[in-house]
Amino acid sequence: MRPFPAGKVELDRCTFCSGLWFDGGELEALLGKKLPATLDPDVVTSRKCPADNLSMQAAVVAGLRVEFCTKCHGVFLDDGEMVALNGGKPVRIERGQAPVRPEAAVKDDVMGWLDKLGA
Ligand SMILES: [Zn+2]
Repeated sequence: MRPFPAGKVELDRCTFCSGLWFDGGELEALLGKKLPATLDPDVVTSRKCPADNLSMQAAVVAGLRVEFCTKCHGVFLDDGEMVALNGGKPVRIERGQAPVRPEAAVKDDVMGWLDKLGA
């Protein structure tokens, strides 16, 4: 995980898969409103929470499919999920050779998403 600033928060970015991690409550603090996570028990994820190493659960937050930790309420977003969310720009992620996008591009996606959520 590598932290970088995005708006009012500092995001953690996984240097391995270039996913984004929001600490529990971080998104809600940023937006100043509750973001209910709807768990999707039919989807199995293999990701472990980077904070407490529990298996994360598939969930939907603000219309976006994420992985959610039921213990610390952390939210994990794949880099590709963030791109898909950003106005439907093409997503070209090939497993194992996904190009790591520069922080600035990821930050733009995050800010675009937060704008949509009414930040
Ligand atoms: Zn957790």
